[in-house]
Amino acid sequence: MSVLKLRIYPDPVLKQKARKITIIDASVRKLAQDMLDTMYKSDGVGLAAPQVGVSKRLMVIDVSSEEEPAKPIVFINPEIIEKDGEMIGQEGCLSFPDVFFEVKRASKVVVRFQNLKGQTLKLTAEGNLLSRAIQHEIDHLDGKLFIEKATNELKRDLEMTKAGLLDGDAEEISKKLGEEDEGLTLSVPSKEAVTS
Ligand SMILES: [Zn+2]
Repeated sequence: MSVLKLRIYPDPVLKQKARKITIIDASVRKLAQDMLDTMYKSDGVGLAAPQVGVSKRLMVIDVSSEEEPAKPIVFINPEIIEKDGEMIGQEGCLSFPDVFFEVKRASKVVVRFQNLKGQTLKLTAEGNLLSRAIQHEIDHLDGKLFIEKATNELKRDLEMTKAGLLDGDAEEISKKLGEEDEGLTLSVPSKEAVTS
């Protein structure tokens, strides 16, 4: 078992587009196992290779709860081949410790990928944590980060500032956020209006 060092924002490797894996050999199998060890140790539900400093298209996910047996999935060269709908929910990222905010994602995704045996598989996830994790991790492989997808940029900035990942005055952002929330309540009559 090896726990790898997590790369924390703004490490430049997080912004790179990762390379396709052409040969699935012992080094890829070891990397996948080490990434799973690292993810479990950090209480994450997903981890992409760039987050441990390896710019390759490999990611691991396990959305099983603590009471359930572990259900790791290793994705090699994953590609979303179908997406549909929309969902908004809280997201965090192991490369952004203590930062959580709402992100908009597709509700349903169909992902095609290879497993450690080199077999090509397809997986469908809809309206759940697995769907969200697949989209979050594939973004990592393309050098995209969840901070680019916040539904509310002020809330994101507040979280980033509190976590010490962004220079700024948390109090000032909170104040602005308060004003913005009031504005929303006044101008938007119902919740449906926000989501439609
Ligand atoms: Zn992440």
